[in-house]
Amino acid sequence: MLKKILVANRGDIAVRVIRACQEMKIATVAVYSQADADSLPVRLADQAVCIGPPPSKDSYLNAPNILSAAVITGCDAVHPGIGFMAESASFAEACSAIGLKFIGPSPSAIEKMGDKIAAKATMRAAGVPVVPGTDGAVKDEAEAFKVAAKIGYPIKIKASAGGGGRGIRTVFSDDELAQNLKMAQNEAEASFGNPDVYIEKHIDLMRHIEVQILADEHGTVLHLGERDCSIQTARHQKMVEECPAPNLDPRVRKKICDAAVKAAKAVGYANAGTVEFILAPDGEFYFMEMNTRLQIEHCVTEVVTRLDLVKWQIKIASGQKLDISQRHVEWNGHGIEVRLTARDPERDFAPCAGHISSLHLPGGPNVRVDTQVYSGSDVPPYYDPMIAKIIVWDSNREMAIAKMQRALNETLVSGIATDLPYLKKIVANPYFKRADLSTSFLQLHMMD
Ligand code: ADP
Ligand code: ADP
Ligand code: MG
Repeated sequence: MLKKILVANRGDIAVRVIRACQEMKIATVAVYSQADADSLPVRLADQAVCIGPPPSKDSYLNAPNILSAAVITGCDAVHPGIGFMAESASFAEACSAIGLKFIGPSPSAIEKMGDKIAAKATMRAAGVPVVPGTDGAVKDEAEAFKVAAKIGYPIKIKASAGGGGRGIRTVFSDDELAQNLKMAQNEAEASFGNPDVYIEKHIDLMRHIEVQILADEHGTVLHLGERDCSIQTARHQKMVEECPAPNLDPRVRKKICDAAVKAAKAVGYANAGTVEFILAPDGEFYFMEMNTRLQIEHCVTEVVTRLDLVKWQIKIASGQKLDISQRHVEWNGHGIEVRLTARDPERDFAPCAGHISSLHLPGGPNVRVDTQVYSGSDVPPYYDPMIAKIIVWDSNREMAIAKMQRALNETLVSGIATDLPYLKKIVANPYFKRADLSTSFLQLHMMD
């Protein structure tokens, strides 16, 4: 078993990893930027090393500093958390080059899935359905027009290296396509260092359904069921996630989960990962992308399967075999998560950093809060505005919703604005209650 893990991240996910390590009696090293010197992971870890000034590029994305911190503290592994280095094949490779175990999939699996165009090609070859569109990167305007004419507007222009909802544009006509193509390529180059974009049919009123994968380094690949993450902002950022996906035809569920296992096997996947799918209103589903890491919403799968995904990540990275088989995975009841963020709904969800003067987080049976904030802590302006995930479990969806309402009503954050009032409105919304879900939910049902 691994003995000492460097947690190469910040925020709630760093806390999550440290908690798993403490329960497994594994020593931890937190790394932090100057803006996070008083943060919870720094206080909880056995050791902490400052890796640079506040901007991510100088600290949490500074591979030499992170790796040096791991070496000087005698770590044998690195957990990348979510975001930052989690999907960097070169970082994973650098870890193994200096004898550190990267807790995640192999660099080659990260690379194969990290480039969305290559991933779609791999999936097509493996027989997993993909969204109609260009086969590879858009070569020129003529090709783009041809494909658009074939699949019909609206279409999505997507950056091959995009992520976190960035690098996606919707266009409705030839004119808009002409206006947006070059811009999309330039923006992709500037944001992700790769100008490649591809075109996909825009699937109206789609549901975002994703499948949790857990695979060991000995060839066993399991799925832990699906999650519905359809409630997203206009910028494609998830706000509410649940497990299982409500009103999903069991036959479709089985097909999607089987396709996810096939996808993971096609790239020799090991460790935890998520295969994301589009579920169209007509029941057809398509591979969208694979996130080769833990996801923010992994908790809803944990409360329903009672498996600890982070502990499994560590056991798998230690070389252990999965001691459960697919038929032993059980799903019990219903889990719902909301992402509480320091964004002001009154000001178009502008991020608002600042000092949390007081805080009360919800509790009670089957209410879980994963957070890095505490009363008196600061939310720095440099990073993702998420301050807490509130997760509830109950024996069915209706009861889970009632529990979430109760939990949100208990929650108090003073000093900074948050989207708490908006989250309360979502879970009280009648369309949410009857699980009338699509990625247009907020535009359709929350505009008043
Ligand atoms: P990211 O890497 O940013 O997560 P994804 O490819 O997973 O990008 O897409 C993110 C979100 O964008 C999806 O959950 C969905 O809401 C929207 N989206 C992506 N592709 C399509 C599509 N072809 N049709 C409609 N919506 C889409
Ligand atoms: P997920 O389903 O895990 O949210 P997304 O593709 O929707 O995956 O978004 C993940 C992205 O959000 C990350 O790549 C990162 O940029 C950002 N992010 C959000 N919260 C965190 C966090 N706590 N730590 C690091 N990155 C985060
Ligand atoms: Mg995605």
